[in-house]
Amino acid sequence: IDAHPNLSEAAPVALSYELFPPRSPAAAETLWTTIRELETTEPDYVSVTYGASGSNRDTAVELINRLLLETTLRPLAHLTCVGNSPQELATIVGELLDTGVRGILALRGDLPKEASAPAAGSLRYAQDLIELIRRVEQRRSALLCAGKIAVGVAAYPARHPESPTEEHDVEVLLAKQRSGADFAITQVFFETRHYADLLTRARRAGVTIPIIPGVMPLTSLRRLNRLGQLTGVEPAPELMAKLAAADSDLERLHIGVDATVDLANAALDAGAPGIHIYTFNEHQSALEVLDKLALPRRSRPGSQHSRRESIARSLL
Ligand code: FAD
Repeated sequence: IDAHPNLSEAAPVALSYELFPPRSPAAAETLWTTIRELETTEPDYVSVTYGASGSNRDTAVELINRLLLETTLRPLAHLTCVGNSPQELATIVGELLDTGVRGILALRGDLPKEASAPAAGSLRYAQDLIELIRRVEQRRSALLCAGKIAVGVAAYPARHPESPTEEHDVEVLLAKQRSGADFAITQVFFETRHYADLLTRARRAGVTIPIIPGVMPLTSLRRLNRLGQLTGVEPAPELMAKLAAADSDLERLHIGVDATVDLANAALDAGAPGIHIYTFNEHQSALEVLDKLALPRRSRPGSQHSRRESIARSLL
């Protein structure tokens, strides 16, 4: 697979990665090798996940602090309604801003098993969290003249498992935009048409914010199966069969990277303003995908003119 033909003269495309806080010293070591490798690609930001149970709050904050202090990377901090009271969330938002974070991904969070809604007293929807973040920001900017925080949200190319329809998902995305979301990152998807279909539905409904496709390197059968269960998005059976029939890890890597590049190219064809790579804290497959995509990138700091750069700029 070669670089996408339409990209040679295209406007720059934003690039970002998702990382999760390490669960052990050994995992931290691997993560920091990954971070150093990814840093060389000059992403526009890296997002740091947040366990909805609140269990990894300290490691998430620690990772964000280290990214700010020890690297050139700009962190986008995930935050969830689930696992925190509104008061705790307001405190966390204030602390994140104090450390220099300028972007937050506002999420409801995965519900604990067998729960059908966040616990009583918690914020119910991501939309409520966006409004809380905007209130904290407003209070602080009155005191500090602070700049605007970029608030991102989740979007779903294949229906969210609790949603009645895909149209409902788009209405929810529109509500998040009205509450102050600046951009959206999609859940993983496994069919090339899914991102374009979401974009069409969203634009028709009045969603104007950038919607960035989230792609995961499709190289691990185990991970694909687990993600299918977690997100309700079934991986394509043909891809699963190909991966299962592969003779070596190297062959699986090639198959998975090619499938990922196809998905990303289809999204770019549809007008994606950036690519967000779910790295699972590993750099090899992410970098292979990036290599084959050969995205047109701006050099930092960027010019002021491209619409595609606006997402990244808002995170500065
Ligand atoms: P919401 O937008 O609140 O939607 C949740 C459900 O409620 C949906 O079914 C929606 O249709 C419905 N809904 C929302 N608003 C309304 C309304 N006003 N009226 C009626 N129904 C409504 N999870 C984590 O725990 N930690 C993470 O770090 C994390 N990172 C993620 C990053 C990305 C890019 C994505 C796509 C997902 C991530 N998730 C994470 C998973 C996410 O928390 C789950 O998908 C969760 O089930 C929904 O989160 P949400 O923010 O989309 O919720």
